[in-house]
Amino acid sequence: TTTRLKDYLPPAYLVDSVTLDVDIHDGVTTVTSELALRRNPAAAVSDAMMFNGEGLTLRSLALDGKVLDENSYRYEDGELVLSGLPEKATLVSVVDIDPENNTALEGLYVSNGMYCTQCEAQGFRHITFFPDRPDVMSSFRTTVRADKKRYPLLLSNGNPVAQGEEGERHWVTWEDPFPKPCYLFALVAGDLACLEDVFVTCSGREVALRLYAEHRDLDKLDHAMASLKNAMRWDEHTYGCEYDLDIYMIVAVSHFNMGAMENKGLNIFNTACVLAHPATTTDAGFQRVESVVAHEYFHNWSGNRVTCRDWFQLSLKEGFTVFRDQMFSADMNSAAVKRVEDVDFLVNHQFPEDQGPMAHAVRPEEFEKIDNFYTLTIYEKGAEIVRMQYHLLGAEQFRKATDLYFARFDGQAVTCDDFVDCMQEVSGTDMGQFRRWYSQAGTPVLSVVDQVAPEGYRLTFRQHTPPTPGQAEKLPLVIPVRMALLDAQGEPVPLDEEGRREQVLIIDQQEQTFHFPVSESVTPSLLRGFSAPVVLEFDYRKDQLAALLSHDSDGYCRWSAAQRLYFAAMDRLVKGQSSPDLEAAALQPALEQVIDRAGEDFAQAALLLMLPSEVALGDRHSPLDPAAVHEAHQQLKQAIGRALQAHWLSLSENLLATELQMDGVAMGRRQLRNLALDYLAAGGHPEAARIAVELFELPLCMSEELGALRTLVHHGLSGAEQALAQFAQRWKDEALVMDQWFSVQASAPGESTIDVVAELLEHPAFDWKVPNRVRSVLGALAGSNPSAFNTPKGYQLFAQALGRVDALNPQIAARIANAAARLHRLEPGRQQLLRQQLQAVLETASANLREVLTRILSGD
Ligand code: ZN
Repeated sequence: TTTRLKDYLPPAYLVDSVTLDVDIHDGVTTVTSELALRRNPAAAVSDAMMFNGEGLTLRSLALDGKVLDENSYRYEDGELVLSGLPEKATLVSVVDIDPENNTALEGLYVSNGMYCTQCEAQGFRHITFFPDRPDVMSSFRTTVRADKKRYPLLLSNGNPVAQGEEGERHWVTWEDPFPKPCYLFALVAGDLACLEDVFVTCSGREVALRLYAEHRDLDKLDHAMASLKNAMRWDEHTYGCEYDLDIYMIVAVSHFNMGAMENKGLNIFNTACVLAHPATTTDAGFQRVESVVAHEYFHNWSGNRVTCRDWFQLSLKEGFTVFRDQMFSADMNSAAVKRVEDVDFLVNHQFPEDQGPMAHAVRPEEFEKIDNFYTLTIYEKGAEIVRMQYHLLGAEQFRKATDLYFARFDGQAVTCDDFVDCMQEVSGTDMGQFRRWYSQAGTPVLSVVDQVAPEGYRLTFRQHTPPTPGQAEKLPLVIPVRMALLDAQGEPVPLDEEGRREQVLIIDQQEQTFHFPVSESVTPSLLRGFSAPVVLEFDYRKDQLAALLSHDSDGYCRWSAAQRLYFAAMDRLVKGQSSPDLEAAALQPALEQVIDRAGEDFAQAALLLMLPSEVALGDRHSPLDPAAVHEAHQQLKQAIGRALQAHWLSLSENLLATELQMDGVAMGRRQLRNLALDYLAAGGHPEAARIAVELFELPLCMSEELGALRTLVHHGLSGAEQALAQFAQRWKDEALVMDQWFSVQASAPGESTIDVVAELLEHPAFDWKVPNRVRSVLGALAGSNPSAFNTPKGYQLFAQALGRVDALNPQIAARIANAAARLHRLEPGRQQLLRQQLQAVLETASANLREVLTRILSGD
């Protein structure tokens, strides 16, 4: 069934308070809930109310103390409807649930012997009857009961207010004074280790910080703790947001569908997003932990105190919170590098989503399963839309607007329009047209041409958004273009009489021309900082790109110039118009410039030297022949490997560290060094294997160890097999490290990897019930290994695996299925094969998987 934004109606009744009793026993958990109902003054008067409930075994229902018989309510298809309700009433329900067999990991489930919950978006209805919608906000009082020995720790939201023992069992009651939607409910029962610390807030209150994990992982919590404290301080400084409860808890769980969840006062995290130790976690992993810990913490205000009216407004909290975590990470690390990483992610992952069958607006109009809309568009594009508002208003006004937003809507469930209203009121600018960013799907294309005229220099902009499913007509958007014009030395020239050298042009019509009093020959540096999420088309000459790459002060523009050079070279190879060695030779001077300056910022150099992915290259060619794209990609990489081999060799050897450091500079060094080693191997240099094996034998940290392993495996160097065996032996008890072991193998480029994947799925350590493990193989194959995936065997294996995952966990199956979204771009032969396979899966698919597959199969 389709849910539509235009059908939104407020709930007939509100739930002012909830008293829950969760009684955990082996084989059955009994949930008793008492709801204080009150007719909603903001809704049309009705005496009927609907409560959601999925997979609940109903024991009893009582209204105002009177047991309801089966004729006085209707419970079917997940909906319980009561009618004849008075103005105020108390509804008590008793239900049984089966967390031990909950493999969908939605609601209450068991992970490695620990009970935990995931309620966003609609998991709470798997726990008890409730109006499971975010505009119903209630205060919760929760009692958890379980065996004392096996579950010494009983947690829920808020503060513990009472506890007791009954023989072998015990119970704890928690009270959360802040009204919240039920998607923020959480509960944990288990035997966990705790890292504890204290944070003193800006107003001097002490907050106990408690991070929980399995006992063996206690030594992997320090980084998350440091990140949390930094995030708390940062949010006070940057947004004036202070933490409100006396306790802040994070629990790490091994079975988790997403990255993490911001439940009030009791975050629950995928172990992959909270555990970190140099020996077991890569540098990228450390950065991920920092950003996810911050993200979930920031939700306490942008999401929890002020929440969403309905799930169409999901980006209200997610887009804003991603923007907040991006700015936080930028402040903690190198802002320029962080921006390029974020843009890289957006253009290589969100853009394709926005240009394919799953394209949807940041505020979608309809959905079948809301789980399918936790997308890069809602999160990442949503963050870009907030970022544009930040830049349009400027930091100071933006802060005034967010102050207004938090003050005005505290304790309420609101909309994206409410957010923009605050921006509009504070700045006094009409944001009417800007709001189209929320309602219009698709990636805008901004084509720019320049003209040198006697009066000066002219830039003409044309914007166009291609149609997306269900949205044929597109209107012009407000596109801020931050720009400069660079002279022959790469210096920005004055753009006007006042001598400004950088400017923000606002493109809000289909076509607009801007004049600059500039007579010399210039190179336009456009969309600086990636000032809007658009595809920018400008017919740059090669020498202009080389100039931007070596001279532009803007990190994004440098990176973008490098991308254009790489793409153009590989495009010619795909079309058979050139030779790899010629292309590498042409790139060489520019790359050498980057290498010469690498010491300024190793991480930035690594970003500039890294080729765009094979998937990204494929997205430029239609109909898509993945084998030809693979060939071109490999060829250019090998040729660059050979052309600059002396550089790669010296970077591989000279950047070697002698002692472990975990700061940004050290991480950047390792990143560049791993890249250099990879190019060295691609070029077939005889030293590559030796260096990789040496590094693998005595690594200082996981980034080194895994980088060496990846080079050995992906280039089939001698020693690869032995290293894989050794790695598995070393790390067999560390699930997150073994995920990497699986994924390194599943992502090895080349058709023959599909046989490896088939074996990995049969490996004793492979577990269909652990999302991280499933992703490490199927996600790696379908998402980042096009040459193995796009084969008859690849499609078959993918489809079978999809069906198998779907039977256990529909959310994960639907997410992985998105990798097939390029179906309609494939050349006819492959398209036919993949289509057949997907159609076969469709027959038994869950509602989640069906929505994604249907959109993909009908998409074009
Ligand atoms: Zn979030």
